[in-house]
Amino acid sequence: MMEDAKDGHFDLIVTREVSRFARNTVDTLQQTRLLKRMGIEVYFTEDGIWTMNDEDGELRLTIMATLAQNESKKTSMRVKAGQMVSFQNGVIYGTGNVLGYDKVGPEYVINEAQAKTVRKIYDMYLAGNGYQKIKKRLEKDGDLTAMGKSLWHYATIGHILKNRLYCGELEYRKEYVPDYLEQKRAKNNGELDRVIVEGKHQPIVTKEEFEKVQNLLAERNAESRNYRKNKGTHSDDLWRRKLRCQCGHAFAKTRWHSKSRDFTTYTYKCYDQTRTGTISARLKNGLSIEGVCRAPLVQDWKIHTMAQKVLHAVFDDPEGTVRSAADMLGCGTAGVEQAEVLRDKSIIEEKLKKEQGRYETLLDMRMNNEIPREVFSRKQ
Ligand SMILES: [Zn+2]
Repeated sequence: MMEDAKDGHFDLIVTREVSRFARNTVDTLQQTRLLKRMGIEVYFTEDGIWTMNDEDGELRLTIMATLAQNESKKTSMRVKAGQMVSFQNGVIYGTGNVLGYDKVGPEYVINEAQAKTVRKIYDMYLAGNGYQKIKKRLEKDGDLTAMGKSLWHYATIGHILKNRLYCGELEYRKEYVPDYLEQKRAKNNGELDRVIVEGKHQPIVTKEEFEKVQNLLAERNAESRNYRKNKGTHSDDLWRRKLRCQCGHAFAKTRWHSKSRDFTTYTYKCYDQTRTGTISARLKNGLSIEGVCRAPLVQDWKIHTMAQKVLHAVFDDPEGTVRSAADMLGCGTAGVEQAEVLRDKSIIEEKLKKEQGRYETLLDMRMNNEIPREVFSRKQ
């Protein structure tokens, strides 16, 4: 809406209540002031507030927004109290798309075919197999994920091994809302007690098995962390640090050596492919290729050549580069002129010094309470 406002798509916003407009007082005032400066009025029908005309509009808006914020806090507390009751009753939240179970009404009922896959994962892990072996086996056997996919990611296997549901328990507060003003969900990393209750559904693994798996997971986690610390898998290779595959994964670097020609070269390959296998390798092994990354591997000399070409194009013609960048950003030649001025290092440094001075002043003003917080954050 604010974007549309900037583009001048409307000049009046009609909203029922202050609580519908923003979640807290500061937001309400900031946004209405911003809109005011753009010449856009907000009308709150329930409270009869017009932000442009009313003389006491802002004062009343402040009061209403504060009341709304308080209401939001109460709601947040009520929701929490309601959650505690459902925790005790073992109510299941979520979509119910869990491998091994079908959600029938409010209950989880075992899905035999899927439960077999879950058992297989636990058994294999307890027998000392890693994610890689489990993944291979599942794909070879044609087991499907909860989403019905034939391709298994390590994370999917990890989630299954960590889900308490499988030993008959329900876990609450994996996520929570840290700030009722923001209303955003966050992962609970121990900020709040997790609540574990006995569920009413049938378990697929025993509690002993589940705890054993958790211990194993923790052990291996610590091991790999130590390994990384000692061996330092952090790559000092520029391209491994910078390259990202179109599928989102990083690249792995492999050394190629031809004995006959006494020739060594390096290739970069999508990390997902080194783990999952390339299309051709999977076809050969009779595995599904659904969702497998198809990005080709690339030799290091090719990357170097391409990089050289790109970097030369940029640095041999700085003016042209700035111009085409300005074109792309749609800021026109005015932007280029400004950019040319800014190229002078001393000018930039002077500007920076000036801005730093202004910031210090602003900070002093805020600390002496001469300006309210919202003005400070805006100016900052
Ligand atoms: Zn890829």
